[in-house]
This record gives sequence, structure tokens and C-alpha cells, in this order.
Amino acid sequence: MQVWQHSLSIQPLIPLYRNIYLNFAPLKIYMTFEELEIIDPILKAIKEVGYTQPTPIQEKSIPSLLQRKDLLGCAQTGTGKTAAFAIPILQHIYNDKNLNSGYRNIKSLIVTPTRELAIQIEESFTKYGKYTGIKNTVIFGGVKQGGQTQTLRKGVDVLIATPGRLLDLMSQGFVSLRNVEYFVLDEADRMLDMGFIHDIRKIIAKLPIKRQSLFFSATMPLDIIQLSHKILGGKPEKVTVQPEQTTAEKVEQAVYFVNKRNKPKLLTHLLKTVEYESVLVFSRTKYGADKIVKFLKRANLVAEAIHGNKSQGARQRALTNFKSGETKILVATDIAARGIDIKELSLVINFDLPNISETYIHRIGRTGRAGFSGIALSFCDVEERAYLRDIQKLINQRITVIEDHPFIEDADEVPKKKPAQQRGQRQQQQPRSRHGERDRDSNNKRRRKYYRQGAPKPDRSR
Ligand code: AMP
Repeated sequence: MQVWQHSLSIQPLIPLYRNIYLNFAPLKIYMTFEELEIIDPILKAIKEVGYTQPTPIQEKSIPSLLQRKDLLGCAQTGTGKTAAFAIPILQHIYNDKNLNSGYRNIKSLIVTPTRELAIQIEESFTKYGKYTGIKNTVIFGGVKQGGQTQTLRKGVDVLIATPGRLLDLMSQGFVSLRNVEYFVLDEADRMLDMGFIHDIRKIIAKLPIKRQSLFFSATMPLDIIQLSHKILGGKPEKVTVQPEQTTAEKVEQAVYFVNKRNKPKLLTHLLKTVEYESVLVFSRTKYGADKIVKFLKRANLVAEAIHGNKSQGARQRALTNFKSGETKILVATDIAARGIDIKELSLVINFDLPNISETYIHRIGRTGRAGFSGIALSFCDVEERAYLRDIQKLINQRITVIEDHPFIEDADEVPKKKPAQQRGQRQQQQPRSRHGERDRDSNNKRRRKYYRQGAPKPDRSR
């Protein structure tokens, strides 16, 4: 069967690609961390973590950041960008101040959209700053604030925060940004997607004007560029690493045309036939993610879900189990998956195609990290064809269609036109977009037109 041929032809490429990476990577002349003039306490820590040479973004950014220049970085998670900003910030703070005396004021603020990402960044600061004596902490919503405020009271040098909790604790007087000298806005495009723009504006307004600012975004549409102008000084250093197309090219991609109702069967079939070490399944909605876990369970496949409705503890547990290999299947919504960093993730499955094309790049970027290659399989039902077209346009690539599989889409799924009266009713029921904001992309316009024609609405509860 074609699916078998597919699984047999793609799967062996994973180790092969790894070998290619490992064999050929050393041929390039890389700089060393010593050549980047990183101070000994940090060098010692990064050696302990096992980094032998800087990644391209580190090589490009660290020298400018050590010269206290502002930075506009077009890069996504997986490129080593956390160390690219954390190392120079730690080095500045270490060189600037006597860290042994007095109360610690917040000297560096890193704002990032999700809790998972915030936790991961804090872990990185702790690792790289192990021998510097620099104190850092992380604050995020969804948990009681007591533990966080207790640490803040004692004083920290570096604060990593999600926007909502940061503003909350600022308004209660637990956080002052008066002494911030190094500011990082991370994953700016995702911030805007999540509706954080007003929060970001409020935070920026409280920062000292004299500061070093770093701005990272995986994509650079116009609204992001405008936001970067507000945050960065006159002539920031610009660094682009792994432009979208490159990331997409590194990952082997295929799409299955399948009826919505057959997606569960196809997923179960693939998870039982394709070989994988770990697989991340994307669902557009939280409700959908839970449903996927349930039907996989019925098929004797152990999976865990991670999304915004889960408690912080449950999310962390699911992530830990996934990272340790105890759970091989993790089902995630886009926002929850943002901070997931698993180096050897071999397979990503898009159970739903995202309606925002850039999200597709973020998703498939979960595999193909740290020089490894990976596989991304997408399910596309008739409602999602337009999303697929947009995605292919963005990545400038045709995604291979798996034409022979047991759940080929049949014509009966194509929505039929509803009578006029029914169409009117649907229009009235149609909710406003999640953040009440204007629709930004052509996908949304197309979707509205689609609803007007009476097509069933996808579940949008995230
Ligand atoms: P990030 O893009 O910051 O999320 O980093 C992605 C992954 O790359 C993380 O697991 C880091 O620990 C790892 N990493 C960062 N810098 C290096 C390096 N110079 N050498 C090897 N791995 C690295």
C-alpha cells in the first residue's frame, strides 16, 4: 500500500539526514565561543551544557550585542536564539555591577508570549549564568502569584515574564522596570497573534528610554516591523537566521486529502504504521486536542494533550513525559506548542491545517531542529484547501500529496449550498474573531465568504 511505501521511504531518511549534518557540519569554519570574547564564567557554563560552537544566530548576534547595539532578529525557536541574547545580557550584568552587595534591581527584562517559553528561557539563564552569581526568575499567569512575588521581593537581576502577569505585578508594585537596561521582546509575531499588543505598549511605556533593546520575531510582516520601530533605537543591527523557506525546505512534508470525519481514523492508522520516536500532533483547538487524545486512547495509543485549559502542572507533566520519551504522542494547540523544545522530534502531524500560514512554519519547525531533519504530515479536508494554497504560496513549495491511502477524501464531503434562509441564520451566529480585532489576513476573508455560503463552521474554541 502507498502509505507503507511512504512510511518506508521517508522514515529511513531521518538517520541519514543526521549523518549528513554531523559529517558535513564540521567542514564549515565556525567561530568558537572564545573568539566571541565571552567571559570565563559563562564559557565554563556553556561548555558544561555541551555547546562546542556557536550557532549562526549566536555568531552573528553576540558581537553586536556585546557592543550594546540594539538588535532586530528574524529567527525562531530552535536556532539557539535564547543563548544569543542570554549570553551577552549575562556578560553585561556581570561586568557592570558588583553583584555581591545590596538589593538586586531588575536590570534585564525578557518578555515572551507563553508560559512554556518563559520557563525555558529562565532555565537557559540559570544554566548559562551558573557561575556568574546573577539571579533570575520567571513570572507567568495561570498560577498563584505568591511564590513569584516572594522571589521578586528578594530582588533579581533578570526577569523573564509573560505580558499579563507582568502588568499585573507591576500594578501591584511588585515589579519596577525603572532600572531595566536590557530589554528583550521575544516572539513578537506570536505576541500580536495572541492579542498582546496593548500590553506590550503599556510595558514599553514603563521602560527607561536609555536601554539596549532586542526584538525577535519568526516572521516580519508590516505590523511587526512597525512595532520594532517603536521598541528599537535608530539603527538596530539586523540578523536573519533560517528564513521561513529554509526551515520548510529542511523538513520533508506531505499532505493527505481526507474527509474531516475520517481524520481520526487516518491519524490512528498512521500512528500504528509509521515508525517514529516521538510525534507532535497539532490541533487548531483545545477541545479538538482533548478529542484526539480520547480517540487515540480508544485505539490503545497513549497520548497526552497540552493546551491553555490545562493547569500549569498538567502541562509541565505532559512536557516532561514527552521529553523523557515516556509519552510518545503529544497533542498540542499552537500556542501551547510554542515553547516546546525537543531536539530529536522526528514527526509532526497537522491534524488540522492552520488558517494562518506562518503558523504552519512554526509547527513544522518543531521538527528539523538543531540541524536535524524531520517529517511533517498534514491532513487537509475540503474546508482547508484554501489554507493549503496559502501555505504553499508562503513556503514557495508544493507539498507532496499522498494520493493513495485508506481514507481518501470522497465527494460527499464537499459542502452543498444551503437554502437562503439557513444561510442568513448562520451569518447571525457567526462570532467575532477571538480578540475582537480586525481580521488580518486573506484566509479570514476567504473564511467569511465561505461561511456566508453556508459551510459548517469549524470548532474555534481554543
Ligand atoms: P533556542 O532556539 O534558544 O530555543 O535553542 C534551541 C536548542 O538549541 C536548545 O535545546 C538549546 O539548548 C540548543 N542550543 C543553543 N545553542 C547551542 C549551541 N551553540 N550548540 C548546541 N546546541 C545549542
